[in-house]
Amino acid sequence: MIAAVTSGRVQPPSTLLGPGDDAAVVAAADGRVVTTTDVLVQGVHFRFDWSPPEQVGRKAIAVNLADIMAMGATPTAVLVGLACPGDTRIATVSGLADGMWAEAERAGVGIAGGDMVTAEQVVISVTALGDLQGRDPVPRSGARQGDVLAVCGRLGWAAGGLAVLGRGFRSPAGVVNAQRYPEPPYAQGPIAAQAGATSMIDVSDGLLADVGHLAEASSVAFDIRSGWLRVDDRLAEVASALGADPLHWVLTGGEDHALAATFPGKEHVPQGWTVVGTAETAGVDGPSITVDGKPYTGDEPGWQHWRS
Ligand SMILES: [Mg+2]
Repeated sequence: MIAAVTSGRVQPPSTLLGPGDDAAVVAAADGRVVTTTDVLVQGVHFRFDWSPPEQVGRKAIAVNLADIMAMGATPTAVLVGLACPGDTRIATVSGLADGMWAEAERAGVGIAGGDMVTAEQVVISVTALGDLQGRDPVPRSGARQGDVLAVCGRLGWAAGGLAVLGRGFRSPAGVVNAQRYPEPPYAQGPIAAQAGATSMIDVSDGLLADVGHLAEASSVAFDIRSGWLRVDDRLAEVASALGADPLHWVLTGGEDHALAATFPGKEHVPQGWTVVGTAETAGVDGPSITVDGKPYTGDEPGWQHWRS
């Protein structure tokens, strides 16, 4: 099975020695390795009746590479641990592998190694490595009063897709697929770091929740301007068909793995990013995040799940 999912795959130059030996060897040009790991469990993080294996595989790689990008690093390699029940169809495993390789290729990284075991349910554990290419890592804690807050990538799409799937629909494909796998703007993490981003995070739990992490780590408060947030027409159409508020999806929907970052001024914000707010002095007991100057009182809480 391991031969079936690794044979014929092309490794990028950063994989100096790939699968087949006791361990892989990956180039670490910077001398520092950025690393992260994420575990996806069937029934908790994905459902094969909603997402074919290929899309689950893409998602497993994408969520990890998004964390590497959020440090301002360029991903270099991933390692994959896969547990499957013994009666899993070969098509399921090869579908997962195809999706993983497709996403890895999109980001220019190799799957340098991994392990496969049998278990009662499908569990996918991915470890990703990244290279800072001489830049400083961009932490969550660097935002300062007066910084502008900007975002890059899709927001609210996965939440819209979830709402569509939850009503038993399968289209429109663009919005539904956003729930099945994210499309993080990988190149933009390093671009933001190069442009002088002071803090950064990928939006996995929802814009308000994740900017809240920046606020907490940086001891600042953020005010987000709802009028500065872009709501794509396709998302607005889906929301109106379901009687939902698209702005609520944009503010609280997770799993899109867009980037949110702070910059020392508008002139530092790279092309392709949208300024959505500002960092202000944190109040002693006021909320650390406001929308148009007020605490947000949407009717649903942001997507919450266990994360390290
Ligand atoms: Mg993250």
